[in-house]
Amino acid sequence: MEFSNFEIEIDREEYNGILTAYWNMPDRSMNVINGSVIKELKKIVEWASTDSEIKGVVIASKKSSFSGGADLTILEDSKRQYNEYKSLHDFDTANKLFFERSRELSVLYRRLETCGKPFVAAINGVCLGGAFELALACHHRVMDSNAQVGLPEVKVGLFPGAGGTQRVSRLMETDKALQFLLKGNSVDAVKALKMNLVHEIGADVDIVNLAKQWIKHSGDSVAPWDKKDFKNPSGKVFSPKGMMMWPAANALYRKETFDNYPGARAILTAVYEGLQVDIDTGLRIESRLFANIVRSSVAESMIKTLFLSKNELEKGARRPALVPPTSIKKIGVIGAGLMGAGIAYASAKNGIDVVLLDSTLDKAITGTLTIEKILSGLMEKKKITQWDKNEILAKITATENYSNLAEVDLIIEAVFEDRDVKAEVIKKAQAVVGKDVIFASNTSTLPITSLAEYSLDPSKFVGIHFFSPVDKMQLVEVIKGKETNDLAVATALDFVRNIKKTPIVVNDSRGFYANRCVLSYVLEAHLMLEEGVPPAMIENVAKMAGMPVGPLALNDEVGLDLGWKILQATKKDLGPNSVNPVQEKLLHYMVEEHGRYGRKNGKGFYDYADGKKTLWLLPKGSAYPEEFDIEELKLRFLVIQALEAARTVEEGIITAKEADVGSIFGFGFPPFTGGTISYINQLGQSTFVGICNKFAKKYGDRFNPPNFLNINTSY
Ligand code: NAD
Repeated sequence: MEFSNFEIEIDREEYNGILTAYWNMPDRSMNVINGSVIKELKKIVEWASTDSEIKGVVIASKKSSFSGGADLTILEDSKRQYNEYKSLHDFDTANKLFFERSRELSVLYRRLETCGKPFVAAINGVCLGGAFELALACHHRVMDSNAQVGLPEVKVGLFPGAGGTQRVSRLMETDKALQFLLKGNSVDAVKALKMNLVHEIGADVDIVNLAKQWIKHSGDSVAPWDKKDFKNPSGKVFSPKGMMMWPAANALYRKETFDNYPGARAILTAVYEGLQVDIDTGLRIESRLFANIVRSSVAESMIKTLFLSKNELEKGARRPALVPPTSIKKIGVIGAGLMGAGIAYASAKNGIDVVLLDSTLDKAITGTLTIEKILSGLMEKKKITQWDKNEILAKITATENYSNLAEVDLIIEAVFEDRDVKAEVIKKAQAVVGKDVIFASNTSTLPITSLAEYSLDPSKFVGIHFFSPVDKMQLVEVIKGKETNDLAVATALDFVRNIKKTPIVVNDSRGFYANRCVLSYVLEAHLMLEEGVPPAMIENVAKMAGMPVGPLALNDEVGLDLGWKILQATKKDLGPNSVNPVQEKLLHYMVEEHGRYGRKNGKGFYDYADGKKTLWLLPKGSAYPEEFDIEELKLRFLVIQALEAARTVEEGIITAKEADVGSIFGFGFPPFTGGTISYINQLGQSTFVGICNKFAKKYGDRFNPPNFLNINTSY
């Protein structure tokens, strides 16, 4: 029998008749489930079930990991496929065809489970999603002690639709099963064993051998739930225990998701309904839900942005192709404050030597102390060892002396946001390194083109804009000034790749991309305050819309004084009409009249005393309506950010794809939307424009829609 994704071995001696299928897809570093793998798995199952000489089957991998799960590109196509069925058939037939197609994997796994021969999964490296569902359908699971298993589907808008919800909820108590399925996080071998997800751990042994031994000595080919005496680990759904658990589970789901994630809701439904029936009916229920979720706009946009576009950008989609790969072994970071220390840490952690320079040695050392603190925290959580900590710290040289910058491959300045200070350090550093070394600025507000004028060669000057806190935030904006050349962009992108962050390339403009959208979010909150919307409602409504942090809390984190300064600078540069007078009045009141700078001085929109965070009692806005339209408030927060993003695309500052990725990873735009531009596409462009026009009439010109002829929202 011919296989291209599996290498087949039949052991006829020690383990008489055990077939081992080593998953090893050609031309891929990671095994994935695609159409061809499904076909071959079917062949293996039929072979095992009909050939009496085959006593059992081990599925293992020849690669460093078992498998990353389904190839999401095939799922991305589901919506298109459904529409095609609908165009060719009547509604019922189209739904039937799509249902059968979308449950192909589920049916295959069930066939494997009931084919009469024992199957064992020998799991190494990572085993995720559809691949772990394959393992769950096997009668026995052996896991390498360093391996990880998980069902992360919910993170891309889906849910485990190939039996995952039914088998996991029959392996462990329902509350634990729900947590595992709803969070989508991977677990290591020890945890997986404790949770009943696997049966055996192999440390420093051949796990395939362990799998074969199980077949030889036990080899039970009937799954626990197919045995007569099977009982759900949590008992019946309709029992006193079940009635304690389910209302709480529902409440928790609402609290965590605000009902924005249909995939998560499907998990709850599949487990709730599935546990009341036999496994086959449960699997049909799961499939019914999956057929809906897999072709939903939420899943489509999430897969596109969080998986496909993000991967493309990380692999260098925007890198100028003609520039040969650059080698960045050592960088200079000027300014050892909050951002400089973060950049130094992210670089050293990824093997890059760093010269961390500040105006005095003490200040530079303070930067390394910040890094030491992060590392100690990781040590406490047992994420790194003392040896790792020493290694990382040894890569950083704190200094006040510019001569130490000689021989660096790239410089990033992160000094005060002050044009004169930046000009001074650019000149001093270039006097040492010359004009050939690429020079980057981490400025958040000053145009890169204008800073480049202080450098010896503006074509080698680029923006590398990190987000705070650097160690947690995934996005980096690479800013192209007017003169910035391909070498500078390629070097910046290679550096971002080396430190394992996600880059987007943005053309120079005030606020670049992310900050423009964030400012629109905060401005909307300020205007709502003036309208009389209570601060607590503003914060909660924003979270209900899917934002991770309320706009007032966010404003406190960044600093109200900074907002005030930016407003003044904008007014100075662009004239008095460039700022919103309501916002100016509010920030003047907070910063100038009441000294409320935000979290940094313990006083902002919140009070931060004794470790508590409580909203400060602001005077009421000018109006105080009797009733509030919560849905409209939610919509305003998302629409205003999407509008600003659309304008940046229209102005040629960013591509739609990068706007989507940047919005989720840079400022936490709700992942279920697929990003700012996909959100417009999900709503439908004409609906979006209708909402904008309505809001423009009611709330002002800031809601005027851009010209969508220049924006491809369904790229
Ligand atoms: P910070 O005040 O924490 O750090 C600035 C550091 O620069 C200080 O350690 C200071 O001693 C040093 N410095 C000042 N003058 C210097 C000189 N002449 N030579 C050498 N070092 C000097 O500021 P930060 O928050 O880290 O911001 C730094 C830069 O990053 C700014 O351009 C800011 O706009 C940008 N940025 C900040 C954030 C943020 O959230 N804080 C986010 C993105 C970008």
